[in-house]
Amino acid sequence: MSDDLRSTDPEIADLIAAEVDRQRDMVRLIASENYVSTSVLEATGTVLTNKYSEGYPGKRYYEGQQVIDQVETLAIERAKALFGVDHANVQPYSGSPANLAVYLAFLSPGDTVMGMALPMGGHLTHGWSVSATGKWFRSVQYGVRKETGRVDMDEVRELARAERPKIIFCGGTAIPRTIDFPAFAEIAHEVDAILVADIAHIAGLVAGGAHPSPVGHAPVISTTTHKTLRGPRGAMLMSDAEHASALDKAVFPGLQGGPHNHTTAAIAVALKEASTPEFRDYAHAIVANAAALAEGLLSRGFDLVSGGTDNHLILIDLANKAIPGKKAAKALDRAGIELNYNTVPFDPRKPFDPSGVRLGTSSVTSRGMTTADMDRIAGWIDAVVSAETAGDESAVEKIAAEVHEFARSYPMPGLLTD
Ligand SMILES: *Cc1c(COP(=O)(O)O)cnc(C)c1O
Repeated sequence: MSDDLRSTDPEIADLIAAEVDRQRDMVRLIASENYVSTSVLEATGTVLTNKYSEGYPGKRYYEGQQVIDQVETLAIERAKALFGVDHANVQPYSGSPANLAVYLAFLSPGDTVMGMALPMGGHLTHGWSVSATGKWFRSVQYGVRKETGRVDMDEVRELARAERPKIIFCGGTAIPRTIDFPAFAEIAHEVDAILVADIAHIAGLVAGGAHPSPVGHAPVISTTTHKTLRGPRGAMLMSDAEHASALDKAVFPGLQGGPHNHTTAAIAVALKEASTPEFRDYAHAIVANAAALAEGLLSRGFDLVSGGTDNHLILIDLANKAIPGKKAAKALDRAGIELNYNTVPFDPRKPFDPSGVRLGTSSVTSRGMTTADMDRIAGWIDAVVSAETAGDESAVEKIAAEVHEFARSYPMPGLLTD
């Protein structure tokens, strides 16, 4: 860290240093998080943050865009090439505003949207009741089948036929299985809806060829840039040519003012990194690690929603372990293993104290951990759950020491040492 920050604001400097240590010392399994590279981190901390550039490259409302136009154009062109789309907008501030722009582009208030219910694995912005998207639009929600834990495409089709939504969202925040884009596309086509693939969680897997691409099936694709894609906090909207201008107008001037140019630059860097052969290996390693972690958990008697995983994400239903998700998550955090409590489909418990925990392997894969390490992590998770159930805090502390030593033995990407 620079001496400037340390002398201007030692309190914040100390807190940032503490967070560096925390991220280095933990086994981070939050499925929506990652470690960005030093290059991405560097790009976010630049003078590009000083510049206003409302509009789009070549069509701005402020002067002085000689450099920014090139930055944004690079980001756009890289997104188009990497994902194979006609159009990309790299300005949305984050995933939620990106999705709101989709509504603004194609719906009027009161129109019908269909998405996956939040407790089933969807996202708030797919029409969940507490979200603006559930309050200002007429929302119908699909879920998963109880026996399989997988999206019930028959239910999706029936609901779509009965409710005639204008847009259908597929994708979500807690879906451990491959999203069947062709099946969603067929249904959307049948009811004349626009299919929106929200690939926020899996964008890195799609880019790296470790999950099928929605391109050619979903005319509109929304994604964050900071989950498996390993970019800065931000988002992109991608589309075919037909839907491009409505999306652009919705982002600016519909919803946002000036784009965050430092973020745009970091997105461009992340997209360049994501187009390398090394990133393909990384994406496949994430999936291999998740499969190994799932195996390690299953062999220790954990109940996984849908019985396993196809991607980076695992959802454990702890009902058979006699410990609720929040209690388990807090004990695991004390033991150096960071994840989040999460509802499971048909959860009998309340969302603020649900039955499950959610895990993902993008961050541990970014640290360089491999499938052999996943069994150790599964073993620690099992031991912590047992210790916590037995009220044995000293066992949790003992595990914490092992976990921290293990985590520290892997380099941390983006750790700026000077
Ligand atoms: C994370 C996520 C979002 C929202 O992203 P934010 O950047 O947190 O606003 C939207 N949709 C899905 C499916 C997500 O996983």
